[in-house]
Amino acid sequence: MNSFAPNDPISSFEAVSWFFEEAANYLQLSDGIKDLLRNPWRVIHTQVPVRMNDGKINVFQGYRVQHNGARGPYKGGIRFHPDATRDDVTALSCLMTWKNALADVPFGGAKGGVQCDPSKMDLVELNSLTRRFTQNIEHILGPNRDIPAPDMGTNSQVMAWMMDAYGQINGHTPSIVTGKPIELGGSYGREAAPGKGAVIALSVWAKLVNYELKDRKVAIQGFGQVGKAAAENLIKLGCIIVAISDVNGGIYNSTGLNIDRLNEYFQENQTVVGFESSDAVSNRELIELPCDILVPAAISEVINSRNANSIKANVILEGANYPVTPAADKILNESGVAILPDILVNAGGVIVSYFEWVQNTQQFRWTEEHVNRELERYINDSVKTAYALSGSVQTLRHASYIVAVERVARAVELRGFV
Ligand code: NAD
Repeated sequence: MNSFAPNDPISSFEAVSWFFEEAANYLQLSDGIKDLLRNPWRVIHTQVPVRMNDGKINVFQGYRVQHNGARGPYKGGIRFHPDATRDDVTALSCLMTWKNALADVPFGGAKGGVQCDPSKMDLVELNSLTRRFTQNIEHILGPNRDIPAPDMGTNSQVMAWMMDAYGQINGHTPSIVTGKPIELGGSYGREAAPGKGAVIALSVWAKLVNYELKDRKVAIQGFGQVGKAAAENLIKLGCIIVAISDVNGGIYNSTGLNIDRLNEYFQENQTVVGFESSDAVSNRELIELPCDILVPAAISEVINSRNANSIKANVILEGANYPVTPAADKILNESGVAILPDILVNAGGVIVSYFEWVQNTQQFRWTEEHVNRELERYINDSVKTAYALSGSVQTLRHASYIVAVERVARAVELRGFV
C-alpha cells in the first residue's frame, strides 16, 4: 500500500481509481490490463425530456455506464439524484464491478443515473422520466446483457415501470430488472437486503476480531432503504441507535432513539426531523457525534479530510457507496479506526438481486428464509475471505479490492478477449 493518498477534493472516479490502482499494483497487473479495468467499457449519455405537469418540457441528463462485463452481464442500480453526474455514475459503476466480484455473484458492474430531484416530481412525472430513460438505453439492456436495480431516489415502483417500458419493446421480461415489487416477480428479502447485509457483515467481522456489539452506540446518516434496515437489524444485535438523519437534517438522543416509533413518525411526516425526545443535528454534525459505530448510508464523500480527525467512532460501516475519501481513509487507518468498506459491506442488495434474477430465470420463488440463509452464506464467505488477507495487507478495503480485482483480471485472462 502507498504511504500517501491524494488530497481532497478529487473526483469520485479519481478516488475509486485510486483504491483500484493500489490493488492493481499489489497484484502487479500489466499496464494494458490496468487500463482496461480502470476505465469503463461503455458510457451512454442521453437526454431525457419530460413534459411536466405544468405543460413545460424539462430536459434531464441520463447516464448508463457499463464498467466491466468479464464475469457476467452488467449489473448495477439506477440513481435519481441531483448529483448523479457522469463522473459519479462512472465511479459507482466501477464499485459495482468490484463489489460483484468480491461477493462472487456472476455479474459485471454498471451504474445508471438521471440528474433530477425526485422529491420535487410527482408519480406521473417520475413514470414519464423512467419510461423515456428506459427507452433511450433499452438497446444495451437485457437479462443476459445489463440488468438495472434500484439505488438512491429509485425504488421497486421505478423498477416496475422500467420492466414495463422494456417489455413494451421486447415482450414480458421480469429478469430485466431486480428490486421489483413482489407481485411482479420481485424477491422476498430484497428490500431489506442492503441494510441487513451490512449488519451481517458487521457481525461476521465483530466475531472475527472479538468486538462486542451489544450496547454499542450507533449514528446512521440516511434513513432510506439502507439506513432504515440497518437500524432495525442493529437493534436486534443489542446496539443503541443514538442518531439518524435524512436529507432534511438529523436527530440525536445519547440514550437511544425508539426506531419503531420513528418509523411511524417517518410514515406520517416523510422526515426524521422533529421526532420526539431528540435534539436536532445537521448531517455534518452527525458524522462527528460521540458514538462507537458510524454508518454512512446516504451520499458519497461525507467523511473527508476536513472531518476525519474529528470522528469519535472507532468503527465505520460503509452502507453508502464511496462515503470515505482516500485522504480520510488514510487518516482514519492511521488513527486505528476500523473501516468496513462499501464493496464488502453493502453487497447485500446485489446478492439478493442475483437471487431475484435466478428466481425469474427459473420461474420459481424462494421463501424469505431461504433468501436470508443464502444472503448470510455469501456475506460470511466474502467477509472471511477479505479478513484473511487483511492481516498481511493492512486494511480491509485494500484486501477487498485485491480479492475483487484479481477475480476480474483472471476472468479477462480466461475469456481471452484481449
Ligand atoms: P434511498 O433513496 O432509499 O435513501 C437515501 C437516504 O439518504 C434518504 O434518507 C435521503 O433523505 C438521504 N439523503 C439524500 N441526500 C442526502 C444528503 N445530501 N445529505 C444527507 N442525506 C441525504 O437510498 P438507499 O437505497 O438507501 O441508498 C443509500 C446509499 O446506499 C447510496 O450511497 C447507495 O448507492 C447505497 N446502496 C444502496 C443499495 C440499494 O440496493 N438500495 C445497495 C448498495 C448501496
